[in-house]
Parts: sequence; structure tokens; C-alpha cells
Amino acid sequence: MRYLSTRSAPGHTQGLAFDDVLLAGLAPDGGLYIPEHVPKLPTGLVSEASTLSYAELAARLMAPYVGTAVDDDALEAMVADAYGTFAHPDVCPLVALDDDHWLLELFHGPTFAFKDIALQVVARLFDHELERRDDRVMIVAATSGDTGSAAMEAVAGRERIDIVVLHPAGRTSEIQRRQMTTLGAPNVHAVAVDGTFDDCQDLVKAMFGDEAFRTESKLAAVNSINWARVAAQIVYYVWAAGRLADERPVTFCVPTGNFGNVLAGHYARRMGLPTERLLIASNTNDILSRLIDTGELSAHEVVPTLSPSMDIQISSNLERLLFELFDGDGRATAGLLRQFRADGRARLTAEQHQQLRSEFSGDRLDDLETLEVMGRVHADSQMFVDPHTAVGIGVAERCRRPGELVVTLATAHPAKFGDAVQRATGRMPDSPPALAAVADRPERYASLPTDVTSIKEFVRSVRRG
Ligand SMILES: *Cc1c(COP(=O)(O)O)cnc(C)c1O
Repeated sequence: MRYLSTRSAPGHTQGLAFDDVLLAGLAPDGGLYIPEHVPKLPTGLVSEASTLSYAELAARLMAPYVGTAVDDDALEAMVADAYGTFAHPDVCPLVALDDDHWLLELFHGPTFAFKDIALQVVARLFDHELERRDDRVMIVAATSGDTGSAAMEAVAGRERIDIVVLHPAGRTSEIQRRQMTTLGAPNVHAVAVDGTFDDCQDLVKAMFGDEAFRTESKLAAVNSINWARVAAQIVYYVWAAGRLADERPVTFCVPTGNFGNVLAGHYARRMGLPTERLLIASNTNDILSRLIDTGELSAHEVVPTLSPSMDIQISSNLERLLFELFDGDGRATAGLLRQFRADGRARLTAEQHQQLRSEFSGDRLDDLETLEVMGRVHADSQMFVDPHTAVGIGVAERCRRPGELVVTLATAHPAKFGDAVQRATGRMPDSPPALAAVADRPERYASLPTDVTSIKEFVRSVRRG
């Protein structure tokens, strides 16, 4: 399997292998890597899925994307080890909301949000490749919450990897901060930046933009544009369909921020998974549902909501879909994005808009509607759901058609967003012991100004080897 960039010219053939794509993250031309072709699901695999463990299915599905970079036995062992960290024997259990509406719980990993599903595997893939190359990396990342802790947890204690994660001081929830600051591993470093999430992201970009610093520090990224994360997320779509074993094709409803999760569903469909519809669920930051409605990308200010992991203005993974809408023309894809950055808006052609609408539908919920869903689900079924999941449930309820089989992806544990749950239901959800334990552990983090020189100095000072 070879990969090309979403900015490469049509007919371009100089694909990279999986291991290079894994470590590079972003392509040198600024594009995102995508596979040159989409492998087909092996015949019978969906029905067989119900007899396989989650890890077995994951190894089978990821193998064609990984190609020869990792041999099958090593991949199987890595994936089994990754999903051994999950608290539920099914890894991603299905829970019924009603006869035809299911929740696929993706939050049973070590940090209680769905980012663990991909990052636990990606950390092991990194390790394997660095071992083979006898090399090491320094991962730097910015986080507004879930990604940082999932990445830090996944690489904690690994010899060949150091990680520095910047978060905006005072702007993450207490539990999210503690998940990052209490790990205690010598290779894991949290930095509270005196600024906003955008400042953190700009600092990371500035470090990557400094060629000399990037090379000297062996910088690497694990943000959601890393293809390996998308590949790992394809698995639970197939898993859910296999476990439900219903003759109806499934409609998936996906709470969406950076478009990584739903993009994996789109790839599952392209691989041949019978899929009725893909529903994109947004909060008030609804650039994607507006794109589906109007065919226009238009930027609004980011509004903070109860579902902060979806408070995103422009979804980075959208570029992979735009590349398809431009029939694999990377220059046209880059042109549209340039126009969007310059003018704050850019329009699809009528034909592209039509194609988008044939593949995705979407809707949005504001905070009040989100709380209403959380309250109602609790009243009806004594179940707590977190605000991100509630956005998904609300959109699924609004969009579903009679007789349609719907799976809504549950992306975070309710205890991670206890305050919102309490507002909606009057009750505080029980914390799993591993989550509750972060409240008692000592915190360790650096506090630094929004100043790239200080951050670079910090990165140099903590880097091992
Ligand atoms: C990251 C995240 C999302 C959004 O996923 P994307 O891949 O960015 O679309 C939704 N819910 C939770 C809890 C998340 O952490």
C-alpha cells in the first residue's frame, strides 16, 4: 500500500509507505496522506466479525493499510496489547437505546474518550518503527482536552518517545488537566501556556515550521490528521455492523469536530461496509452541517459549548474528503482551501455539493438541546450520557426514518463531563476508579508564557537521548 498527499497533482505516482506516513504526519507540501486505493473488505468478514475478538478484527482490517511495514504477527500482538488496556471485554460495547437505536461506546480506554482507540495502537506502531530504525522522536502537541491526555497515556514510559503537550492554562476542565499532569512518567510533560488553545496550536506550528529545530529535536505529531489514527477508527464501524448482524444496512450518527471519526466511517463504507447513511452531528460550531446544507464553507468564530472536543472552526480532516470531491486533483483542493483561508468562505460546485449530500447528512444541537437530550435519556433509561454523545443522540433522533437501524457513537464517558451531567439530570455520575484516582495524585506541569523561544528551550531541556 502506498500513500499520496491531498495536495499532489493528478496522476502523481511517488507514493510513500505506511511507516513513513506514520512518522511524518503531514506531507511536505502541507497536504494530508491518503491511501492510493481503498482495500475491499474480505468477503464474509462482516458476518464473521461477531465471532472474532475486537483485536482480531482490528488486525485483519488494518493489515492492508499497514502493508509490509509491520508483519502480520507483530501487528496482531500490538493491537491485542493496545486493546488489552480497555476496561470492557468487548472493547467497544453496543448498548440499546431502543429497538432500532444503539449506542456504540467508544470510551472504555484508559482516558475515557474515544481518542484512546486510535492512540493506543498508534503509540505501539511508533515504538515498533522507532525500534526498527534505532531512532527516537519528540512528540509535541496542543490540546483543548481529550487528545493530549490520550496521547500522553499511550506513550507514557516508552523509551524512544518523549512527549510535550501544551494546554491553555485554566481553560481545560480540572479532570482533563489532571489526566495530563498526574501521569508521573519521566518522558511525559504537560505545559500550561498562558494563552488560548489557538495560541498553543500556533506555538506547535511555529516549532514544526522551524526546520532546524524540527530536525534537531526529531519532532513528530500524533494529531488527528495522522492517517494511522483514521485507519484504526475504521474498525469499530465494521465491528458494530458485525455484532448487530441485522440484514438492514446501518446508519451511523457521529459527533464531529475534526472530521476524523466520521471520515473513518466513510472509509468503512468505501471498503464495502453496507451503510445506509452517515449523519454528521455538530454542536453550535456547525461549519460541517452548514456545508452540507448550503454547499459553502464559511468560517464563524468558535463558540465555547458543553461539548468542547467539537468546538472547532475548520475540521482538518475535511481536506481528505475535498480531495475526493475534486476527483483526486490536489491543486484544486489546495486552491479551495487557500480561498477559504483568505476570504473566510469558499463554495463547492453544484455537482460537488450534490455528491456530498448523497454521502452525508447532518444537523446541529445547541447547549440547551444537548442538556434536554441528556435529561431525557436519563429519565427514560437511567443512563447517563456525556454532552458529545448527547449531540449525536439528538441528531440521530431528528434525522432517523421509520424502520432505519441507527448506531450513534458514544465518544466520552459521562463522568468526564460530570458537571454537565449534573446540570442535565440533577445527579453526578459515578466515576470509574481509574478516573477518580487522578484527583489524589500529585500534579506536575510547567507554566510558560506564549513565547516560542521559551517553549523551545523547554522542549530541549526535557528531551532525552
Ligand atoms: C475528539 C472528540 C470528538 C470529535 O471527533 P473528531 O474525530 O474530531 O470528529 C467527539 N467527542 C469527543 C469526546 C472527542 O474527544
